[in-house]
Amino acid sequence: MEVIPAMKKRVLSGIQPSGDLHIGNYLGALRNWVKIQYDYESIFCIVDLHAVTVYQKPAELQSKIEEIAALFLASGIDPKHSAVIVQSAVPAHAELAWMLTCVTPVGWLQRMTQFKAKAESQETVGDGLLQYPVLMAADILLYQAAIVPVGDDQSQHLELTRDIAQRFNSLYGDTFAMPETSLPAVGARVMGLDEPDKKMSKSAQGAGHAIALLDPPNVIRRKIMRATTDSNPAVDFAAPGPGVANLLTIFQAFSDWTDDRMQSHFAGMRYGDLKKQVAEAVVAGLEPLQKRYNEIVAEPGYLRGVLAEGAARVAPIANQTVDLVKQRMGLYAGGCTSRS
Ligand code: ATP
Ligand code: MG
Repeated sequence: MEVIPAMKKRVLSGIQPSGDLHIGNYLGALRNWVKIQYDYESIFCIVDLHAVTVYQKPAELQSKIEEIAALFLASGIDPKHSAVIVQSAVPAHAELAWMLTCVTPVGWLQRMTQFKAKAESQETVGDGLLQYPVLMAADILLYQAAIVPVGDDQSQHLELTRDIAQRFNSLYGDTFAMPETSLPAVGARVMGLDEPDKKMSKSAQGAGHAIALLDPPNVIRRKIMRATTDSNPAVDFAAPGPGVANLLTIFQAFSDWTDDRMQSHFAGMRYGDLKKQVAEAVVAGLEPLQKRYNEIVAEPGYLRGVLAEGAARVAPIANQTVDLVKQRMGLYAGGCTSRS
């Protein structure tokens, strides 16, 4: 038995419904999904099982799932071409994760930077937080994804995914293809506006930390004008401090300007003027997305239809992988193929 062959190579990526989507998620991940979706058979997930690795208020989680689905579409994900799915609607993700857990040495997981950082902020560290990268490996390997477009913070988890796949293949025979990491040239790691030594995160506290994709223009302007810079008065383009470097990155990502154009325009510019220009670039960059978002959420039932259709489309692929893995491991696979 083989996995259903993909017509084109598959691309897969996901975002957790763990808070408000921000420009880091957009520039690091979502925008690239939109760019490459038609070159692949594309699957984009709202990874709710990942979100609950730290406590989420149930009602908020529910509403974030649909909000994020709407933001995927508003950004330009085309549901006629790309499957948009909620992870927990396809049970095979969790099923494969268990099987992969059993081939993953715990030491590999304890070394993960994200685990160490997130565990630090929790009073009680749930086992799910440690297992997070195994579930992520399952998300990817379930569909034999060839390309995984993510932000730089996920590079380590992608390496681990390949390690897990390799270990499985060497124990049980060739089963999984090795997925490649795809990072954007600009914006792979957008930093917090208030703390430019930490990456911008949905789950971080602090009103001035992140620009949410749905922030109104006046809020975007206020947050950027208050962004942390340094004690210099103007842009030292050759050696900008982390806060200024981050603002320049944000501008470049939204404008698509070349390095040369960035340098000749911003070198020596006073921070106040830099911030005003960055704010206008972000406001203009998000305006069409916000408009489409409002149209999408005004259509009753549309999103649910997209999500149901996405889950129905990918479930047969996912179930076949689980069946194959069961067979390889010697687990009881009787009657499984009837699930799809
Ligand atoms: P959380 O704080 O809950 O982990 P997050 O902001 O890190 O939220 P995720 O859902 O974990 O967002 O990640 C979704 C995608 O966005 C991933 O591909 C990740 O690499 C990317 N991403 C997250 N933060 C940034 C950032 N600051 N810059 C660039 N890409 C990012
Ligand atoms: Mg994250």
